[in-house]
Amino acid sequence: MASTGKTYIVEHLDDELGAWSELEYMTIAKESHENGASFFLTSVPASLELPERLKTLPGFVAKPESVEELYPEKSRVCLLDPSATKELAPEDGDTFDVFLFGGILGDDPPRDRTSELRKKGFEGRRLGAMQMTTDTAVRVTRIVTQDRTPLEEIPWIDNPEIKVSRVESVEMPFRYVKGKNGEITVPEGMIDLIKADSEKGFGDLF
Ligand code: SAM
Repeated sequence: MASTGKTYIVEHLDDELGAWSELEYMTIAKESHENGASFFLTSVPASLELPERLKTLPGFVAKPESVEELYPEKSRVCLLDPSATKELAPEDGDTFDVFLFGGILGDDPPRDRTSELRKKGFEGRRLGAMQMTTDTAVRVTRIVTQDRTPLEEIPWIDNPEIKVSRVESVEMPFRYVKGKNGEITVPEGMIDLIKADSEKGFGDLF
């Protein structure tokens, strides 16, 4: 099985699709498109109004079917699961060609909503002990299985502080990929959204 041409599936599990998810899914679509991979957002109800700039983006495909309807042959699909006992390794790129992620925002402390997908019986792999945003989890899975870089060689930034005003900053309780200039890798527009939302308060959701 070739290491390129993977399919990344985010199973929609939240009731809504808010601004944070919109930016994350736009980024997953763009990066998948640029890297010869496919991205499906699955279990999208007909009643869910998708933002125009998301649904028209090359690389974005929404499907009403669930992942198990699309892939009844479970052995091809790997669930990225923070509670899995095995870490994702480059060789998993030979075993699996579909990688499945929970379409949920991060929360602190994590509520293990990935368990909704675990129940479906897909084999799981972990990306280390720290919680990642969904776009980071897809990016890291691509780096490991397509680029064949082991997890321990990927440079990280954990729990970064984002300056939201002249005097305040907010700590993001996630692991991010460190960019070439030492910056965190986040969707375009995300820092501005974090700044805007910090004025309203995040509650327990990110
Ligand atoms: N706290 C969340 C939960 O309730 O499970 C984690 C949600 S995380 C923002 C969204 C998705 O990214 C997860 O469902 C999982 O597929 C993937 N993910 C995030 N961090 C991961 C990790 N360390 N290992 C494996 N998958 C991870």
